[in-house]
Amino acid sequence: GEPGAIVLVDLDRFKEVNDTLGHHAGDELLAVVAGRLRAGLRPADTLARLGGDEFALILPRSDAATVRELLDALSAALATEVVLDGVPLSIEASFGVALYPEHGHEVGELLRRADAAMYHGKRGSADIVVYAGEDMAHPTQWLVVQAELRHALARDELVLHYQPKVDLRSGAVVGVEALVRWQHPQRGLLPPSEFLPAAEQSGLIEPLTAWVLRRALADQAAWTAAGRTWDVSVNVSARNVEKPGFADFVSGLLAGHGTAPHRLLLEITETALAADTRLAEQAVIDLTARGIGISVDDFGTGYTSMSQLRGLPIAEVKIDRTFVKDVLDAPPSQAIVRAVIALAHGLGSRVTAEGIETPEVADWLRRAGCDEAQGYLYSRPVPWAEIKTYEIT
Ligand code: C2E
Ligand code: CA
Ligand code: CA
Ligand code: CA
Repeated sequence: GEPGAIVLVDLDRFKEVNDTLGHHAGDELLAVVAGRLRAGLRPADTLARLGGDEFALILPRSDAATVRELLDALSAALATEVVLDGVPLSIEASFGVALYPEHGHEVGELLRRADAAMYHGKRGSADIVVYAGEDMAHPTQWLVVQAELRHALARDELVLHYQPKVDLRSGAVVGVEALVRWQHPQRGLLPPSEFLPAAEQSGLIEPLTAWVLRRALADQAAWTAAGRTWDVSVNVSARNVEKPGFADFVSGLLAGHGTAPHRLLLEITETALAADTRLAEQAVIDLTARGIGISVDDFGTGYTSMSQLRGLPIAEVKIDRTFVKDVLDAPPSQAIVRAVIALAHGLGSRVTAEGIETPEVADWLRRAGCDEAQGYLYSRPVPWAEIKTYEIT
């Protein structure tokens, strides 16, 4: 038949607008975007809202050049400033394009490829990306991943691996960090980078985190019964902690397992803490008021200022692997690590270094006053069956 295209459009900063200006501003933004898209389309074209901040465009009877021209115009139209709640904003969007018949013959296939192209553009920061083969589809096809992940949660296809955390002075294991993986029926064991971004975008991060917390607390109860007093660390995303009632939810789970709250550490990345200070700070206050430990993950990679952390009762600061790995031969990394240790201790937090792969790095960190360590030197993240018999040698 005649050539055509399916295009996926996703707003780049919708969540930010929604979080900082409120849901009504988010809704208004979506209405403005829909209006501008519709105004730029031709009578035979179709605009559909896919949910969240994603739209689909169906462009019949158009060759590649026509599609490109139309999308350039749409992108420019979207970029015109919009004022929401008195705040002027420019709208940026990512467009993923699949062409008919080159990239597929049926809608499902075209949508998946448009999605892969869009995701590719988001990672590379190009705004309009045309599908260019299977390579592009590789890391994460969001629509597919989202649909499959829903089933994965229902079918218990997720698994936790645990990585020990070691006291740098005594060498004893003091806790373990739970790291999620997906035992995919066709693709094998998938790392979190393959599915967490899709989970965060789709709202699936909520049931996912709930699953991880339940599993980790049940496992911890089992190893406590076997005489191991390890703390357990669980990673949570900004979306989790910002949800009203999250602290009560976690408290309820702890009570259900009869676990003392301080034996759970929730790891929140520094970037998440810095993104919306008020919401995240309130969440930290709510959680710590219930006795739950807070750990600031990937410290050094975000833009938290000392004054933002001051006054927050943070149990642990984790120094990001990028600084740890070259601490022996890069003076700037040494300076950062020393400063983080001094800052954390000054605030009453302990310091954990992640990504330790050699004894030399462990020695340097111990001498610099770092409290705890994690990394391949001690153990890779391993399944529960292996961690439960883990001993430091
Ligand atoms: P993270 O919290 O910074 O976790 C540390 C990552 O570094 C893990 O990757 C771990 O396997 C890896 N790692 C540990 N020691 C070493 C080392 O010595 N050398 C090297 N090269 N790498 C090391 P993983 O398991 O792929 O997890 C990646 C990220 O995914 C985590 O980074 C965390 O941010 C996120 N994540 C994992 N599980 C969950 C979860 O249940 N919920 C949420 N929200 N995020 C999770
Ligand atoms: Ca988006
Ligand atoms: Ca972590
Ligand atoms: Ca980390």
